[in-house]
Amino acid sequence: KGQSNKMEFQAETRKLLDIVARSLYSEKEVFIRELVSNASDALEKLRYLQMQNESGIVSSESGDVGKKPTSLEIHIAVDDSKKTFTIQDTGIGMTKDEIIENLGIIAKSGSKAFIQEVEGKGGHVDKNIIGQFGVGFYSSFMVADKVEVFTKSYKPNEPAYKWQSDGLGTYELSEAENVQQGTKIVMHLKGDAYDFAKEDVVKGIIKKYSNFVGVPIFLNGHKVNVIQALWTMEPRDVTAQMHEDFYRFISNTFDQPRFYLHYKTDAPLNIRALFYVPEYKPTLFDMSRDTEVSLSLYSRKVMIMSKASNILPRWLRFIKGVVDSEDIPLNLSRELLQDSALIRKLRWVLTNRLIKFFLEQAKKDKTKYLQFYKDYGLFFREGIVTTTEQDQREEIARLLRFESSKLAPGELTNLDEYASRMKAGTRNIYYLSAPSRHLAETSPYMESLAQKDVEVLFLYENYDELVLMNLGQYDKKHLKSIENDAAEEATGTAAADAADATTAADGKVKESLSAEQCDDMIGWMQAVLGHRVNKVKTTKRLVTHPCIITVNEMGAARHFLRTALADRS
Ligand code: ADP
Ligand code: MG
Repeated sequence: KGQSNKMEFQAETRKLLDIVARSLYSEKEVFIRELVSNASDALEKLRYLQMQNESGIVSSESGDVGKKPTSLEIHIAVDDSKKTFTIQDTGIGMTKDEIIENLGIIAKSGSKAFIQEVEGKGGHVDKNIIGQFGVGFYSSFMVADKVEVFTKSYKPNEPAYKWQSDGLGTYELSEAENVQQGTKIVMHLKGDAYDFAKEDVVKGIIKKYSNFVGVPIFLNGHKVNVIQALWTMEPRDVTAQMHEDFYRFISNTFDQPRFYLHYKTDAPLNIRALFYVPEYKPTLFDMSRDTEVSLSLYSRKVMIMSKASNILPRWLRFIKGVVDSEDIPLNLSRELLQDSALIRKLRWVLTNRLIKFFLEQAKKDKTKYLQFYKDYGLFFREGIVTTTEQDQREEIARLLRFESSKLAPGELTNLDEYASRMKAGTRNIYYLSAPSRHLAETSPYMESLAQKDVEVLFLYENYDELVLMNLGQYDKKHLKSIENDAAEEATGTAAADAADATTAADGKVKESLSAEQCDDMIGWMQAVLGHRVNKVKTTKRLVTHPCIITVNEMGAARHFLRTALADRS
């Protein structure tokens, strides 16, 4: 008793300690997250054992954990004059052997061993235990040159211990007096880390990383984490008011969410997510592709990355919320997380779910959806243009809405509805880009198609033709601008019939030029127009207009190009 043993870290541990302290974490402040996570784990383990004890599964061997219910809490105290940072929990604590195993050997995780032991016995620990790598504790040496750990195991008749180290080669271990059950860690901060003895700094960091940890965290006596981790709750238990408060909290705005999606799945990845679409209309600033996202990535309620820009594709940057996946390791640095296969998979699953969600909303409340589409539809167009997988592009395309030659002005339709009205055997979806309904309806391009009763979608936003051209096809049907030369071929019969219809329409048979006269005129026009045209030919497509200019594939983007070029000048 009272005697202190100097012990050496294992050789590997010494080397690893150096790496952890120097370079594993990109930011020093994460040591707080790591220690809070450990304290939370110690409490969760105790909670688990207490529950087992109550239900009589574990009795004598595990001691009297059930007898005196300890309140499960984390207390952090900072002292700016002494330059210390202290964290204490009322968790399971550690025995002497456990200290040597868990704090003396790096990459040894007592938490992982705990889970394995429980599961080995056929038990099941709640998904709340965070640790698994056995390196987090050593992050304390990034900021401290002396770390003292006081700990007393929950097991009866176990003495308390003090462990102490400078994080270099050795640590000291001795029995200690007056130690409460649980663990207390006192850190003596290094000169360049004195900020972590400041209450407001530490409070900000706790809120940033550990706001949703399942046990109360007190800082110098005041509770810090008051907001619940709604995403881990059962969706039916979360009220609209709770969503509203939570949305305001994470988005830092005062409006309300117009939509929310509470998504839970366990396959192919474990995901607990909450997504919100703001009530407000996006500003130009929100539209900018460089705008920061309000989406954070968590693992078991501990924040891994705020403003996580790669969890969803850029075009979904208007979504605010939280994604929690226990499949994502806490210890990955930002750089490693950037584009791992895991993140790509997560992004794929979430994107598909969100598209599905918007489709559901469109069905559920058409008016509300159309308002949303008016405000946010531009993002969908961007999605089509920037997504590389055709299947996903076509899914996004189902969200688009257009006026149509078959519907009254103001009424909107979608590609599925258009397809359902198509005549059997036809393969093309036609569209026309025009500045207004009137100009669309009186366009020479419309004449033959209108008479033949072919439906044409009207695109009033000039970038829409670029979007549809980019999409290329939808559900095996080709998207064609009626300005396109190929449109005539596709409706060859339509054009011919339309020409016949002229005769009937005004009762007079019009005189036409002879084949020779036609050739003469074509020759003359070609000579006059020169390079400006590719080809001049006769058509039966027109009824009242004398001539029409058709364009090749890319030429159909001329409306878009015209404004794009005008904007630049
Ligand atoms: P991990 O949390 O990934 O297991 P750490 O290096 O953070 O790795 O911690 C190593 C081990 O030390 C933990 O698994 C746990 O067994 C033990 N430990 C750390 N902090 C505490 C604590 N506050 N109470 C009890 N045990 C702890
Ligand atoms: Mg840990």
